[in-house]
Amino acid sequence: VEKGEVYKFEAEVHRMLDIVVNSLYQNNDVFLRELISNGSDAIDKFRYMSLTEPEKYKVEGEDEVPLEVKIEYDAEEQTLTVRDTGIGMTHDELVSNLGTVARSGTTKFMNALKESGNADSTMSQIGQFGVGFYSAFLVADKVTVASKSPLDSVQYVWESENGSASFNVYPDPRGNTLLRGTEITLHLKENALEYADPDRLRELAKHYSEFVVYPISLRTTKTIRVLDEEEEDPTKAETEDDKKDDEEIAVEEEEESPKEKKFKDLKTHQYEVLNGNPALWTRDKEDISEEEYKSFWHTLAGEQAEEYVGHSHFTAEGNINFKSLLYLPNEVPAHYRLGSIDNVEKGMRLFVRRVLISDSFELLPRYLGFIRGVVDSDDLPLNVNRETLQESKILQVIKKKVVRKAIDMIKHFADENDEIKDELDDEGNPIEPDDQAVSKYITWYKKFSPNIKLGVIEDEPNRAKLSKLLRFQTSKSEGKFISLDKYVENMKDWQKNIYVLGGTSAEEIAKSPFLETAKEKDVEVLFLTDAIDEYLVKQIVDYKNNKFMHLSSEGVKFQDESADLVARREKYYRKKFKPLIEWLRKLYQGSVLRVQVAKRSLGQIPAVVSSSDFGNSANMERILRAQAF
Ligand code: ADP
Ligand code: MG
Repeated sequence: VEKGEVYKFEAEVHRMLDIVVNSLYQNNDVFLRELISNGSDAIDKFRYMSLTEPEKYKVEGEDEVPLEVKIEYDAEEQTLTVRDTGIGMTHDELVSNLGTVARSGTTKFMNALKESGNADSTMSQIGQFGVGFYSAFLVADKVTVASKSPLDSVQYVWESENGSASFNVYPDPRGNTLLRGTEITLHLKENALEYADPDRLRELAKHYSEFVVYPISLRTTKTIRVLDEEEEDPTKAETEDDKKDDEEIAVEEEEESPKEKKFKDLKTHQYEVLNGNPALWTRDKEDISEEEYKSFWHTLAGEQAEEYVGHSHFTAEGNINFKSLLYLPNEVPAHYRLGSIDNVEKGMRLFVRRVLISDSFELLPRYLGFIRGVVDSDDLPLNVNRETLQESKILQVIKKKVVRKAIDMIKHFADENDEIKDELDDEGNPIEPDDQAVSKYITWYKKFSPNIKLGVIEDEPNRAKLSKLLRFQTSKSEGKFISLDKYVENMKDWQKNIYVLGGTSAEEIAKSPFLETAKEKDVEVLFLTDAIDEYLVKQIVDYKNNKFMHLSSEGVKFQDESADLVARREKYYRKKFKPLIEWLRKLYQGSVLRVQVAKRSLGQIPAVVSSSDFGNSANMERILRAQAF
């Protein structure tokens, strides 16, 4: 016997359903995300419509139906239900939205499945193709959708089984059980019974719904033992309570105790809100406590994650609007290590209207991959797939802005924490920092400097900003790390260059004969101790109009002497040491480019081996050799 009207699925939809129903994919979990996000979308739509056409969308006899999504399971019936109080669907909408109207995403999804070597990942992105609803068939062999739209006086049921080519639509025999919204019941497959379990659902729904703005709750059951004193039917009294505090209580079983007949077991149902902290980023900063920021950080980074050292919460307004919340971690996150570029998790989550679109999307460049956070925009279409997303102009604008904000966040942290702050003892008196003490920023910097340096090298538009974050030991800093700004501040009046010298460690560089002249002139020298540092200063070229100059290069100049003096001195010595130079030339023939009188004063040192101005510094040569370029 046919139930109600029978409709044929649009051909492509049927083909897709066939694949989904018979799928052997392992990550079936996505279905819950899809159903929750559909519920959340439907509430969004209702909210919008009720604002623009309040009369049409008002529910008869109800002032306000709460905006929420509820999840229920029944282990015995092997069902799982997701119910929302969103816009609902009329009879015709059920027919067209869930099967007969061709969606462009269907074809795209099918093509992606065919092309992708990794069907699992395509399936996990099913929602991005605009066909998320059908993921219900990953776990259910029968799906029943009951829906009540404010535009239809009758509640209808949509039902389909086992990848059949058709579905049925009929008035709900139970009547209008919903005030408004949609109830989706999944009749779970034998191999999907794990989903009729509170722990599993809690885990999944928490993961997917922490970012949904409406409360998502799970109906759980608790057995309680109560005193059975009254003679009257307890279910009636409890039902009254139930209406008040959203708890259903029903007598499940009355236990006959041989001693006293005074106790009975009651099964109580309650709703447990799973997303206690919904969509923090959409709220006003002023209304958010540090505790809430902390809790959200752990949602993003995991319970075990170390505290962050800074965050940035901002709204971008203009042609493109979005909200974002970024966190600056104190430890390089496990998911992110320079070198492991292909890690799936990227630390940033992209939302469109509070619906999670991707958590593996490259929103920040590689060097900022350690930053965790969310971006949520109303200006991106919901039904976009990764490829279109990557190319989206809107997203390019968003990315640019997020990168700037991320760098600002680090800069702010650096500015606030560059100095060693006095610690307080038990009596509240400041403790003098010892010689070994390092500022909070430097502690952080030591862990993240490879990222900052890579940023300086790769991110040309932000190079100037990033350069401000760099820190170096110098010939005068006594082991401390200083900024380029600090170096420039300390420069001699005549000084036009930032003098640098490379080596494997600060101790080694400090012993270098190249430092002699600088010492004599009381000039500070930056120590380049990281392999990457030499590339770095090559890229920066100059800082605040001061060119970097290698002390080890032959043409190193000090502007405290006039060009004339240098020329005269050179001429004098050239003449004086002519025989020596000729002798040395013969001696080192073929091993060195040339032997000449130094233009600079070498202090106590009679001779140095230097590199040519256009070649690599000696240290760079060492690095290149080590890396076998
Ligand atoms: P998408 O959500 O990307 O549009 P889906 O396959 O998830 O694609 O859903 C298809 C359509 O079915 C939705 O666009 C919507 O019109 C309708 N729909 C699905 N779930 C609900 C719901 N819970 N309430 C109202 N409409 C829904
Ligand atoms: Mg959807």
